[in-house]
Amino acid sequence: MEKRCIYCGQPITKKPVIVWMKREKEEAQCCSTDCYNKTSRFIKWDKTSRLKAYVIIGICAVLNLVFMGFSMKGWWTHIPLIVIGICLCKWPLVFMHFHNYERFGIPKTLRYVRLASWFLIVFGSVITAWDMFSL
Ligand SMILES: [Zn+2]
Repeated sequence: MEKRCIYCGQPITKKPVIVWMKREKEEAQCCSTDCYNKTSRFIKWDKTSRLKAYVIIGICAVLNLVFMGFSMKGWWTHIPLIVIGICLCKWPLVFMHFHNYERFGIPKTLRYVRLASWFLIVFGSVITAWDMFSL
């Protein structure tokens, strides 16, 4: 299999620089020290924000289930969805294994996830606004 740089997504042609992913207990490869530095910075940032993201998203997911489970009616019932979208936008890789961003590289994957989270935010806002006017 062709090895790709975990950061920029380019195929690795020369000797790779290895990053040890503590959380995954695996190593990833970078094409250059520049990518290596950016990856380690990213891993550090990811580690500090991960717990925060889990807690907020967890609470919102539970709220969302409760609202749906009791089929509550109110304009506020879709707010957890918007909050989840905001969290995903802020911390895009919380639910991803690093193999998932090996394919495109970290910056591109971040962009894709952010795009998806924007859809979630817009979708949540639209139904919230809709409910405000129709309920
Ligand atoms: Zn690279």
